[in-house]
Amino acid sequence: MPNGVMIVAETAEGSLAPISAELSGVGRALADELGQTLTAVLFGSGIGGLGEELAALGADRVLLADDDALSEYQGDAYLAVLERIVREQAPEILLLGQTPNLRELAARLAFRLETGLTTDCTSLRLEDGVLVMTKPVFGGSAIAEYVVDDARPQMATIRPRAFEPATPQASRQAEVQPVAVSLDGVVRTRVLETVKEAATSGPRLKDAKTVVSGGRGLGGPENWKYVEELAETLGAAVGATRAVTDAGWVPASHQVGLTGVTVTPDLYVTVGVSGAVQHIAGCSGARNIVAINKDPDANIFKHARFGVVGDYKQVVPALTEAIKALRG
Ligand SMILES: Cc1cc2nc3c(=O)[nH]c(=O)nc-3n(C[C@H](O)[C@H](O)[C@H](O)COP(=O)(O)OP(=O)(O)OC[C@H]3O[C@@H](n4cnc5c(N)ncnc54)[C@H](O)[C@@H]3O)c2cc1C
Repeated sequence: MPNGVMIVAETAEGSLAPISAELSGVGRALADELGQTLTAVLFGSGIGGLGEELAALGADRVLLADDDALSEYQGDAYLAVLERIVREQAPEILLLGQTPNLRELAARLAFRLETGLTTDCTSLRLEDGVLVMTKPVFGGSAIAEYVVDDARPQMATIRPRAFEPATPQASRQAEVQPVAVSLDGVVRTRVLETVKEAATSGPRLKDAKTVVSGGRGLGGPENWKYVEELAETLGAAVGATRAVTDAGWVPASHQVGLTGVTVTPDLYVTVGVSGAVQHIAGCSGARNIVAINKDPDANIFKHARFGVVGDYKQVVPALTEAIKALRG
């Protein structure tokens, strides 16, 4: 018996993470189209207050797995609890975020449930009541659509910032229920150490609304300041190509692309970046790409909304000054 749409929301530093609103938005729309309910599941410790927020975002029912053992992501524990919930509730559709922790959880759960999972979806729609899941493949050079044949639930993870977040409506009410958590003999691994990413002054790359990325065309680490100055002026996060991170000009955490971070900013400015397919894989979700490259045939211009053909040493300082003047 189909039993609605279920989302697994997430917290970040005690509040709902942005992906929760994005899951709520698409989950609500699918549930409405199916004429079914939307259930949100949330893991954590001391999360009671977040039930109402999930209700405001559109959930009809909120299941809170609130336990000290769930305060931080622990794959074995989260999996045991979620597997039990999903087997009991039998949702038709189960959505999670393509986030570092929950994409792991999604894969492990799909295996246990012997169902199909499409990761990193950028679009979801229903066709004759069946979920059609769309994602970029082959490094972003093609778009593929997937459906799950007979197994249920139909599972997908959604790419952060690819879906419109739900707008909270304080008047919405939901049934908020605690979930019994029993983890005896379940947890086989333990976190020995958590290493926090070194703090950078600007916004975080993966959440940034504006990103300036530099490539090998800068010529050397001594010229990285051109990228940093432009980024600072725009209030942007700094990204890089793999050529740059492999060369050690900036840490690997700045790498955008297939084997790096996926970004979905409103504005993505590239400086001396050729636009290799593996780089585009990480920035094709940007709303506007602006490219600065001296080669008019560079592949990046095929993806760019605006482009400047020229030497970055002339273009970038002029652009930085012009933006400063406009802002100041
Ligand atoms: C399995 C695999 C995974 C990969 N994953 C990634 C990934 O995640 N991210 C990634 O970025 N790459 C990835 N790569 C590498 C990718 O294929 C490219 O090699 C890389 O993106 C190229 O980086 P680039 O654009 O900085 O350098 P280049 O391709 O060397 O381009 C430099 C550009 O700078 C321009 N230029 C030179 N001088 C100037 C100037 N003075 N002013 C303006 N423009 C100038 C040139 O015209 C050129 O277009 C991967 C490769 C493989 C095989």
